[in-house]
Amino acid sequence: MHEMMVAQSVFDTVLEQAKLHNKKPISVTISCGQFNPINDEAVSFAFEMVAKDTVCEGIKLKVVHKPLIAKCRTCENEFDFDITAPACTKCQSSEFDFAEDAPLLLEEIELED
Ligand SMILES: [Zn+2]
Repeated sequence: MHEMMVAQSVFDTVLEQAKLHNKKPISVTISCGQFNPINDEAVSFAFEMVAKDTVCEGIKLKVVHKPLIAKCRTCENEFDFDITAPACTKCQSSEFDFAEDAPLLLEEIELED
């Protein structure tokens, strides 16, 4: 299960940072792209399981889904690709290329003051 591996690796990093700064973590934010999306509920559940009985227990895990960026071949406009309206937002052309999908990233770890 993809989410379990993600949760474990996020947990390891948060724990490392918490130890390094000797502070209790409050929340963590991760982001992912559109081609390899993360199920928010599954990853939260998996994180709760790995964090149980550790300093990470009860912290909030936020998942940000990054839009896929498309670039118009006609006017070179860059826009957030929308599957329900797959056309350039400027000139309505349907000729466009996709930028690279956003990677899975650990965006931010919030530690206690
Ligand atoms: Zn265009």
